[in-house]
Amino acid sequence: MTPTEYLRTRKQTLDMMDWALKLVPRGGGGSYLKNPPADLIRQLDTFDLPPGSHVERLKVLIEKHDPAQSCYEEVVKRLPSPIRDKLEDETQVAVGLVHDAEFNGSVIRSGRNPDDGHVILVPVGGYMLTAYASELCMLAAPPMLTLAISEAGAAYVGQAQTRTMRLARGERLFRWARTAGPRRSEMAEALELLFRRYVALGVADPPDILRTGMRIPLVTDQARIGHPLEAGSYLTHFAREFLILHECGHIILGHFGPSSLQGEPAEIEFAADRWALEMIAESSPTKQYKMCGLVGAAALLSFSARIEKLENSQSTGTHPSAARRIQRLLDFVRTSPRLGFWERMRAWNCITKFLQMASSMQAYTDRNMPSFQSLRGNAFTWLLDTSCETQGDLAFKDQVPRWVSQAIPERFCMVLSVERVCTERRLRQAPDDIRLRRRLELILWVFEGVKSGHSRAEIFLDEAYEMASRTAAH
Ligand SMILES: [Zn+2]
Repeated sequence: MTPTEYLRTRKQTLDMMDWALKLVPRGGGGSYLKNPPADLIRQLDTFDLPPGSHVERLKVLIEKHDPAQSCYEEVVKRLPSPIRDKLEDETQVAVGLVHDAEFNGSVIRSGRNPDDGHVILVPVGGYMLTAYASELCMLAAPPMLTLAISEAGAAYVGQAQTRTMRLARGERLFRWARTAGPRRSEMAEALELLFRRYVALGVADPPDILRTGMRIPLVTDQARIGHPLEAGSYLTHFAREFLILHECGHIILGHFGPSSLQGEPAEIEFAADRWALEMIAESSPTKQYKMCGLVGAAALLSFSARIEKLENSQSTGTHPSAARRIQRLLDFVRTSPRLGFWERMRAWNCITKFLQMASSMQAYTDRNMPSFQSLRGNAFTWLLDTSCETQGDLAFKDQVPRWVSQAIPERFCMVLSVERVCTERRLRQAPDDIRLRRRLELILWVFEGVKSGHSRAEIFLDEAYEMASRTAAH
C-alpha cells in the first residue's frame, strides 16, 4: 500500500458527521454548528468551494484541505536539500489528520517491505487542543512574549512591517496585558477545563471564552494587528511545526530499520526532538522565527506535561516524560552551537517566560479550584447530572454533538457506555426513579443519534458498550 492509500483508509473515520449536526437543537445557544457566525461564513468564502449550504462547504473544505498536510509542506520546503527531497517525495511520505484521542503524533510504515513509505498521523484532537491552549496562553501572556511571537509570525506570512504597524501592535498588546490582568484566572480555569475534557473524553472544543466575543479578526482586518489571538494563532503554528518536525525526525533518522532496535525508546524520542530543534535552528527564515520556533516547541511540550499530570502518568504512550523533554530543550538552547549569543539569550528568556506562565496558571487551578477534583471523572457525567437536576436538556443536546461533530473518540464511546451500563443497573433496582429514567433517556438519545448516522462510529460504540457490560458483569 502506498502512504497515500494507507492514509485514505485511516481517514475514513474522520468526517464532519451529519448525524451529529442533526442532533443539535434549534436555539441551542452555544453551538455554531448549524448557525455559524458571520465571520466563519466570510472565512469559508475565501476558499474556492462549490456552492451549497455551509455544512456541505465545510465538508468539502475538510476533505480537500488537510491542515496537517499543509503545515508539513510549509515546514519541509525550508529544510536543506537532501532531506527535503526525501520528505517531499509523495510516494514515500503522506501526512494527515486522523481521528484519535492521542496528543502525540506518530509515524508508521505503510507496508511491510523495506522500501515502503511512511505515514505521519496527526491526531485531530491533539491538533485542535494545541490551538485552543496556545490561544488561551497568549491571552494571559506577558506582552513581551506576545509581541515577539506576533512579529515573527507576521513577518513570516509576509505582512509588511511598517513602523506605525509595529508601534500599534506593541501598544495594543501592552494595553491588553494591563486590562486582562484581572481575567488571568479566567484563562487559567478555561485552560484547566479544556485539558480535563480532553483527558477524560478525548474531545477538544473551543473554550467558552474564545467562543463569546473573543474571535480572532480575519487576516485582512486591521483589528488583527496586536490582537492577543494573533499571537495565539502564530504560537499554534510554531507548536504544530515542532510536532511535525519531530515526526520527520523519526523518518530521517531511520527509526524504523533494524538499527533502531538498539536504542532505548526514550533515547529515540530525544533524538527526534533534537533533530527537530536543529532543523528549527538551521532552517528558520529569520532569527525571530527561529526563536519563536523554539518557544513553540516549549509550548507543545508543556501541553504534553499537563496531559501527563492529569493522566497521572510519567509519559504519554511511547514518549518519555514531557518534563524530561523540556529539560533537553533547555539544554539545547543553552549549549547548541547553532545559536548565536543574542539568539540564545532571547530564546532562553522567552521560553522561561512561557514556562513560568504555564506553571503559574497550573498553580492557580491547583490552589483555587479544589472542586475541579470532582470533575476529574469527566465533563460528560457532570453535564448529564446537571441536565437531570435542572430538567433542562438543551445544554446537553447542544454540547454533546459539538464534542463529537468531527469524530467520536473511543474514549468518549467508553465513557458514554459506562454511564449507560451503570444507569441501567441502578434503574433495575429502582425502576420508578424518574431522574434515573431521564438520565437513561439522554444517554440513549446519543446512542440513537450515532446509530442513525450509519458511520463507523456505530461500530466503536457497540464495541464499547459490549465491553462496559462485560466489565460490569464481573
Ligand atoms: Zn516521537
